[in-house]
Formats: sequence, C-alpha cells, structure tokens
Amino acid sequence: MENRYIDISCQSCGAPLSFDIRKQLYTCGHCGSSLQINEAIRQKEGFKKIHAEHLQQNVKDYKLFSAYCDGCGATIIFEENEALSKCAFCGKSLVRTDYLLSKDMPECVIPFAIELKEARQQLKKWCDSNSLKEESHRLSKAIDELQGFYLPYQLVYGPVDMNVSRMDTSSSFNCSGYLSDQFINCSKQLNNLLLDGMEPYDLSRLNEFDFGYVAGQRVKIADISDTEMLRRAQAETAENYRPEIRKVLQSKAVEVDADVSSAFRMPLLLPVYYICKDGLMAAVNGQTGKVSIRALKDSHYYFLPWWLKAIVATLCFSAVFYFALKAFGADTSSSLLITAMLSLFFIIVTLCYYSDTLHNAFRVVSGRKIFTSGENTFKREDGELVINDKLRERKIQKPVFFEKINDEYQPVILRFATPLRIFRMFFIAALVIFLPVIFALFINGFDFSKLNLGGSAVWFCIAVPVVPIYLLKFGIDELYERPWIYTIDGGRLKRYRKKTSVSKETVKDILKTIFLPPTSILILIGIIVFFTMVYLTAFGFPE
Ligand SMILES: [Zn+2]
Ligand SMILES: [Zn+2]
Repeated sequence: MENRYIDISCQSCGAPLSFDIRKQLYTCGHCGSSLQINEAIRQKEGFKKIHAEHLQQNVKDYKLFSAYCDGCGATIIFEENEALSKCAFCGKSLVRTDYLLSKDMPECVIPFAIELKEARQQLKKWCDSNSLKEESHRLSKAIDELQGFYLPYQLVYGPVDMNVSRMDTSSSFNCSGYLSDQFINCSKQLNNLLLDGMEPYDLSRLNEFDFGYVAGQRVKIADISDTEMLRRAQAETAENYRPEIRKVLQSKAVEVDADVSSAFRMPLLLPVYYICKDGLMAAVNGQTGKVSIRALKDSHYYFLPWWLKAIVATLCFSAVFYFALKAFGADTSSSLLITAMLSLFFIIVTLCYYSDTLHNAFRVVSGRKIFTSGENTFKREDGELVINDKLRERKIQKPVFFEKINDEYQPVILRFATPLRIFRMFFIAALVIFLPVIFALFINGFDFSKLNLGGSAVWFCIAVPVVPIYLLKFGIDELYERPWIYTIDGGRLKRYRKKTSVSKETVKDILKTIFLPPTSILILIGIIVFFTMVYLTAFGFPE
C-alpha cells in the first residue's frame, strides 16, 4: 500500500516511513532515520491546512446543492440539474437547502470504479445464486432502485495502544498495534455490519478530494458527532484486534480497550451503491463490486450457563467411564458404584473449572446475518469486470505487549498456560499428594517392600480431594493472572522475574507464628503427626 496522502515521508530522504511497534517510532528503511509519533501527526496537519484552503477557493466553480432529510437527518450534496426528491436512506421527502460548507468536505476520496449497470449485475448474480432466500426474491424486484453514493467515512491508520484482559481474571496487560486501513462509517442511518460486509477498499487509488468528484454523483455528509466517531473508531479497532488478543490470552472472553489517539483519522469518501427498501438493505462496493446484504430477520444464538456445562461434562464423562468398566468385564452393580463415586469427585472438579461469575444465566443473543458475495473482489480488464486474484484482506500487525521493567516500558512476550508451566504444576501437585511417601522412601533407603501406604491414609484423605480442587481453582488463576514475562535480548528470550521484596514486618510475623504459642504448639503437633505418618509409611505398623 503506497499512497502519498497517507504515507509519512522521511524528513531526510523523502522515502515512505514504516512504523516500528517495538520502538514506537516511524523508521526509514532507506536511510535509517526515524520520526516520533507526534512529529508525524504534525506533518499530516500541514496537508490538512493546504487542502482546506484549496477547497474554499474551488467550491465557487461548481453549482452544487444540498438537501436535508427531516426523517433520518441525512444531508446529501448533488449537482444542480439532478432531481432528488426522496431520501434514499429512509424514504421520506428531502428539503432543499442552499448552504454548502467546504468545511464539511473530506480530505480524500476513492473514486467509483464500477458503473451502476455493473453494480446491478453483481446484485443480480447474488440473487441468482441465492434464489431460495427471501432476501433474493425481494431484492430482485427492487434492483432498479439501486443508487450510487459517496459515503462519509473516516480512515484510521497508525499506531494504537490497547489495554487487554481476560474477563475471568483481574490482571490487565498493555499492548500496541498498528492499523493500516480501517474505515469507520460516519453515517448514523447506515448499518455498520452491512457496510463492513462490502469492505475492503484498495487504498492505492486514494485521491485528494475535489468538488469535481461530485459531478454526476451524490455525496452524503458525515452526520455523527466527534465523540461518536472516536467511540466507533475505538470499538472497531478493539474488534479487529480481538482475534489476535484471544490467541495470546488463550481465552475467547477477552476485554479490549483501544486508544487511537496516536493514529491518524482522515475523513474520506468511499464509493457505494446502496439500496434500502422496506427493511431490505443491500450495498455494493463501488470500487471492487463486492456485494453485502442484510438478512430480513434476526438470527438467534444460544449460550449455556456455566453450571449446566459442568453437569453435562460430568454426565458425558461418567457415561464413558461406566461403559469402559463394562467393556473391561466389570459387573453392573460395581461399575455403577465406582462410576457414582467418581462422578461425585468429577462434579466438584468441573464446577470449579467452569465456575464463572459472568456467565451464569441462559442467554440468547440475536442479530441480523450479513450475506456477502464472498471474498472475491473485481477489477477491470479490457472494459470487463474480472475477479481480482489478489485477495484484499484487512491487514493488522500483530500486537506487541509492553511491561514496565525498571521504570520504563519494554516490549515483552507473555506466556500463560505453556506445557512446561502446566507440567510443573502437576508435578508439584503430585509431590504434595505423595509427600509422606517420598519422605518415607528416603528414611527406609528406598525399600519399596517395606513401604506401607496405609500409614499415610490420613494424609491421602485430605490431599487427594483438596489438591486437585486447589490446582483447578488457584493453579489456573496463577497461570492467567501472572504470565511468565520474557524480554528479548539480542534476539534471545530472557525470562524476567519481578523482584519481590519481603518487608521486615512480614519476616517478624512469620517468626512470631512459628515460635510463639498458641500457633507454635499447633505447628509442633502438625510436625509430629506428619513424621509419625512418615515413619509408619516407611516401616509399617508395629506388630
Ligand atoms: Zn530516509
Ligand atoms: Zn432520510
């Protein structure tokens, strides 16, 4: 993607700069110089000013009118000779107004590349291949009402900062990313998802806006407030980054707060063919021909509460276990007994595992589906529209996480539930469960024949149910609340350990607990009981 309206150019050699997320700087691949974020923003403000002056002079050369819709608040700009009577977005009558402010005009525009006739053909193609859908039936009758508009958008590109967290933990993490092309719909009447469906646009065709583009076309003016625009930009950034954040945090339920104040926000017009009639909404990308249609009816998605998941998981596990016992030749009554005992244990474990304060009710979420003509976009070859081989995808750069290390933010890699950490946790759990047995083996010289597990019965009774529950509840918290943090040192990963300093007060408290009654007496009794168990386990009960 190269375009002089969006590229930041190098102040020493003029080449386009690219953004280095780790260094949080624009850097030149050509001569090696760099530019701070705020300097880059200043560079673009220069263009804005020159452009505004240019438009103010330019506006006098055109005979343009605007019309306002009382129903939905849309304002449309059009040429003198066009007879525009009805609002294309809500169907009400339009009121002509004379005012035309060049300050409402955007900085850039992507011009129409496909004609109205071709856009209709694209819709017809969709109708033909989806002939069973009610939408197709209704749309094919209304295709003639399709109209072209330059719709108001804001292009958001540049560095973004995010604060992310898993919904089931309290720790949050900071990361940064880079958006190369995110379009924010600036009309309150138009459905965001419908418009998302016909994206992407090819930014290499971006041009400076000039009133000449209005000739023969209708231009819709942005009609949402600046705060709403910012809110939409942040929500959409969060949405775009969510899949990447989910991968890092290893959870579907993640919260992403995006801050786009370091990114550029540039008002621009995008070419769209649009139709809205009796609840039916369709849009065709005026540059690529991609079709997007909103479903006529809501679809419903059902979510189960967490406790139901635990019960279902227990039932499935128990059934499998029961039939496995039968298959290995156990009789019905003992299979049932063993299964019942195990499922009691398993329900405790699954309830702990799924327990979640957020998702404890049945939930139905409804929304309209968006049908699109697929990922294909079109380009013109010898006057004909042909499928563009190069799939245009939204490009986002992988987020880089930052942690405050020695009072300054450094790029890091976070590792949550790695196999090594999980193994370590299970190893410690096994160590705890078999602690008296391990001690016993040491004092009887690893003589397994003398070993008497009955000596540790009390220990097992406590440790076997408590350790797995503790592991699931606090072990999982430990994994996700406190990731292992790695810094990158000359291409090598180095684990960073936060220094935990123990205060003198804490040391005093611990010593008091150990050496002063009544706690010291309890601890002494505990030690005596434990070593009696160890002794009994090592050498058996005395005859
Ligand atoms: Zn340079
Ligand atoms: Zn309207």
